[in-house]
This record gives sequence, structure tokens and C-alpha cells, in this order.
Amino acid sequence: MSESPVVIVGAGHAGFTLALMLRTRGWEGGVVLVSDEDELPYQRPPLSKEYLHAGQDEEDTRFRPASFYGEQRIELVVGARVVGIDRAGRSVVFADGTRRSFGHLVLATGARARELRVQGHDADGVVSLRARHEAVDLRARLSVARSVAVVGGGFIGLEVAAAAADLGLRVTVLEAQPRLMARSLSHVMAEHLLALHRRAGVDVRLSSAVDAIATEGGRVTGVLTREPDVVPADIVVVGVGAVPNDELAASCGLPVRDGVLVDAQLLTADPAISAIGDCARLPGPGPDGAGYRLESVQNAADQARFVADRLINGSTEPYWAVPWFWTEQFGQKLQIAGLSAGYDELRTERARDDKFSVYCSRGGTLLACESINAPGDHLRARKALAAALTGSGG
Ligand SMILES: Cc1cc2nc3c(=O)[nH]c(=O)nc-3n(C[C@H](O)[C@H](O)[C@H](O)COP(=O)(O)OP(=O)(O)OC[C@H]3O[C@@H](n4cnc5c(N)ncnc54)[C@H](O)[C@@H]3O)c2cc1C
Repeated sequence: MSESPVVIVGAGHAGFTLALMLRTRGWEGGVVLVSDEDELPYQRPPLSKEYLHAGQDEEDTRFRPASFYGEQRIELVVGARVVGIDRAGRSVVFADGTRRSFGHLVLATGARARELRVQGHDADGVVSLRARHEAVDLRARLSVARSVAVVGGGFIGLEVAAAAADLGLRVTVLEAQPRLMARSLSHVMAEHLLALHRRAGVDVRLSSAVDAIATEGGRVTGVLTREPDVVPADIVVVGVGAVPNDELAASCGLPVRDGVLVDAQLLTADPAISAIGDCARLPGPGPDGAGYRLESVQNAADQARFVADRLINGSTEPYWAVPWFWTEQFGQKLQIAGLSAGYDELRTERARDDKFSVYCSRGGTLLACESINAPGDHLRARKALAAALTGSGG
């Protein structure tokens, strides 16, 4: 084994979990965890949920206290951006020109919020939510605002809308598609979320595309839609998806296509470099061999565990995992096991209006289970999907 450490670029869910797993599973070599954010690594999911409801302390979002890294011999380098990779010399180059050699390099660079490229997008009061400092800013703004417009009816947009409505603000959600989350939820579950938001007073407008941000003196005053209509707002939250941070990989000649391309072992085209989490695109299902890229904690953590095991044991098994995800809105917990895209049959098992599961199948094969406040159904579906993947039948 090389003397040089495993260098992990990015200390989000994927990077942090990899560092942790390397240590807990017995890696004896060096571990360097690099973050371009100038703070201790933290979790993102609470930022659009508990944290915005003002009940949570900033410290609660940290993965571990500062002392953990020294105790675990994880060299944490924060506020340092990796700007280049010298593949021949096996080193990364930092923004200040210094270098760090690696035995193995893992790109865990995540994704960033997609920009809304319309007039007024850079006005004061137009915000997105990816990093903790943005959540701090949004929480402060919510505490003095009266109205919020959320552009994009995806998970993050809807969670922010729910938090803002709970805080008593007037909330409008503008979704360009004719229904919520057309690519990631069954129409039954999408309609349930729509009704949940509307019952709570959120003005959800479907098929409503944004034309421009209205401003006055550099400050946002509302959103202009294509109808045309003006939605007055003190804050505009842009939640129109994420873009993978794959430029670093591309800059050193590694193949990228909406993500860093990896093989079934999560290795890039260079066997000394892996990629995991939101930034990685895996081979597999999907039209025209496009493969897939997921943005979830489960995906980041499972891929991190897999790479830790591969580095420690030299395993050549292919990576596999059952995708799962959760969201919380207005006190209801939606858990999703599997991926519902392409379903041709839905079956709903309903205990109550706020406790039910939707099973999505194709050709009689279960693809996904979407559960509201039904953790037992979710866990059983995960087991069934795992059994189908491994062919263990049980
Ligand atoms: C507000 C919010 C709520 C969410 N809620 C949920 C949820 O409820 N459930 C769920 O499953 N998922 C949720 N997600 C998604 C989940 O947080 C992500 O899938 C997960 O964080 C991905 O982890 P990652 O490590 O791949 O990327 P990230 O967490 O994005 O971490 C990547 C890190 O790398 C850093 N970086 C990038 N380039 C460089 C560089 N060149 N040099 C140094 N550092 C670099 C970035 O700044 C960042 O800190 C949510 C995401 C957000 C933003």
C-alpha cells in the first residue's frame, strides 16, 4: 500500500462518511478530508427542515465536533479549494498553489444549486439553498419577511414552502410543469403533496413559468410569470435543481457527462481516482446508456461505504444499493424506496389519509414504494427491492 494518503475532495455526506468508514473499518494509512467551505463538515437535509423552523441550533447540523477529526487521525483541511489534479504526479493542487500527494483520490465534490437565468436573478432577496451559510441567511430573512415565492416545486422548494407557511408567511410556489415532481413521484403522491400544501394555505401554481424577477432599487419585489401575472414577494427562493460539480474532473481529462463518469466499482477512467455522491454518474439503467446520478444522503453514504471497503479489502464486486429518500412537510414524513420512473401500475394501501403507501410497478415488478407516515411499509419495500436486486428472493 502506498505511503501517500487517501485524499478526499469535498466534506459533504459522501466525503465525511468515507473518512469515517475508512477509520471505523480499519484503514491504517493517512486520510485527508478537504473542504472549500470554511467550517466543520455538516449535514444538508436539516437546512430546509428543522433548521428553518428555528427550533434547531447551528451546531446540531454538524456531523461531529472538531475534536473528532484529531481523535480519528483524519486530517481535516477546511477553506481550501482544490483547483487542479496532477494525475501523472499523483497530487492535487490547491487554490494557493500548494500541492498534496495522494495514494488514492476520491472526488466527493457534490452539486450546486442550478441558477435561474432570468432578468433580476441577482437582486437582493433572491436566494437558493445548498450551503449552511445560505440557510442562516434564509432563516434571518424569513423572520422579517411577509411573503415568499418559491420557484420550483421539487423537494427542497416544497420543504422551504412548508417551513415558511408554518412560520406564518404568505407563500406561493411556482412550478413550470403541470404537476409536482413529475420525474420523481407517482401522480398519486404528487397530488397528495399538492393537496397538503394547498390545505395549509400555500398558493401552488402549476404550469407557471417564471419570466423575470421584479425588483425595485436592487431589491426583489416579486416574480413575473408568463401568464402574465405578478406574484409579490419579499423573498424569492430558487429551487430549480442541482448541477454536479464535475469541472475539476474534466479539467484533468477525466470523462464527465452531467457528472463524473465512474464504472461499477465507482472508479473514474483513472484507477487512482474514484468519484462518489451527487457528483458521480454510474453506468446502469437509463435510456441510451446514459447511466444514472442520484442526489440523496443514502446514495452518498452507501457509495462512501463501498469505496472504503474497496480500498481496505481490494474487493472487485460491483456497487449496488436500493435507492431511498425522505422528506418532511407539514409534519408528514414521506419515505421513498426505489425509483418510480417508468411505472405502469399503481396500488395504494391506505390506513388513514395521513398514513398510506403507494406501490409503483412495471410489468408486475415492484419499482418503488412511496409511504406517508408508514415506516414499516418503507422498510419492507426496501427489503423486497434488495432481495430482487440480489436474487435472494426473500
Ligand atoms: C437543503 C437540502 C436538503 C436536502 N434534504 C435531503 C433529504 O431530506 N434527504 C436526502 O436524502 N437528501 C437530501 N438532500 C440531498 C443531500 O444533502 C445530498 O445528496 C448530499 O449532501 C450529497 O452529498 P455529497 O457529499 O455528494 O455532496 P455535498 O453535500 O454537496 O458536498 C460536497 C462538498 O464538496 C465541496 N467541494 C466542491 N468542490 C470542491 C473543491 N474543488 N475543493 C474542495 N471542496 C469542494 C462542496 O463545497 C461541498 O461542501 C438535501 C440537500 C439540500 C441542499
